[in-house]
Amino acid sequence: MSDRFKIALLAILALIFFFFSSNLKEGLMVKKSEDKDEAVKQEEVSKAVGIVKEDEEEVVEEIEEIKPIKRNLEERYFVDFYFLNFREGPQTNQKLLNELGRNTQLTILKHIDEKWARAQLDSGETGYVAKKYLTPVTPQWIAERQVSLLPILMYHYVGVIPEDADEMRKNLTTSKANLFAHLKYLKKNNIKTLTFRDLKDFKEGEREYNGSGAILTFDDGYKDSYTIVYSLLKQFGAKGVFFVVTDLIGTEGYMSWENLSEMSKNGMEIACHSRTHSDLRGLSGTALDNEVSLPKEIIEDNIGKEVITFAYPSGGMNTRVQKAVENAGYAFARTINPGKYISFKNSFALPALRIYPETADKQLKIWFE
Ligand SMILES: [Zn+2]
Repeated sequence: MSDRFKIALLAILALIFFFFSSNLKEGLMVKKSEDKDEAVKQEEVSKAVGIVKEDEEEVVEEIEEIKPIKRNLEERYFVDFYFLNFREGPQTNQKLLNELGRNTQLTILKHIDEKWARAQLDSGETGYVAKKYLTPVTPQWIAERQVSLLPILMYHYVGVIPEDADEMRKNLTTSKANLFAHLKYLKKNNIKTLTFRDLKDFKEGEREYNGSGAILTFDDGYKDSYTIVYSLLKQFGAKGVFFVVTDLIGTEGYMSWENLSEMSKNGMEIACHSRTHSDLRGLSGTALDNEVSLPKEIIEDNIGKEVITFAYPSGGMNTRVQKAVENAGYAFARTINPGKYISFKNSFALPALRIYPETADKQLKIWFE
């Protein structure tokens, strides 16, 4: 073999090697970037459900931004009357194809004139309808019609029961280990902890509820809400809602404004549970206002954030009290009526699931199924 031939052969081999290795590299890069996407996705999922690593002691609370959802509601209408005739042509003497019930949704394909439109039902059927009985569909209208599984858990004291505790105090207490087990259950099952602020976004159509969530509420503003609950929630990257009684803030056994401001800054929702914890059903006029509007202002002045949720003291509620809460500018109110489904039609009478001393994660399994 001549030297020239050897050199040529080596050059060809080098070229072949280069070709394959660059392809191989590209292949690896593709694989790697797929893995990267997967990793980013995983991280997003973990963030969304508030997963934290077991060994992480301090978790910086970073409330994720979820992009607004723009539903395509163009030319989407609902029947805003007892019924609506669906006809073969744009005239009242045309053959009746169907009788649409109230709230039936349809899409307008063409506006024929001032009075008539050609429309398509969700079944695919097309026909003509009189436009005056139609109202445009909005995200809020959709949200109000939805009933979703969203357990709102109601805690009071969390920690050790004092030796001199009476029956009531005992019944209002659950252990730290129990709350830990609950948070672990939620984390394991990818159930995200939400606040009523999230709920407001869902109601207004800014974001969509994925059907898997829980709202953890802690009533009365006890000191352990800060010393035990808040630190546990942070550890899990979870959120909680704290219903406080403004006259009790800073008094013995209750949280301070400082505590509440810190919690609020770190993603917790500070909500209102009246000024003195009186049964509101016996109050009217100014007295009722002092328990509903006034404490809202007091909390807002102290923490610098809008208060959107109210919890009726001892669940005491009637139509008048409910109206007062609505008029005061709240977006939601929680009762103590048991239930695990929510509907925005009942924004001022949302249910709650009471946590008893013995409420274990087995019970949660039933609620979240
Ligand atoms: Zn209470």
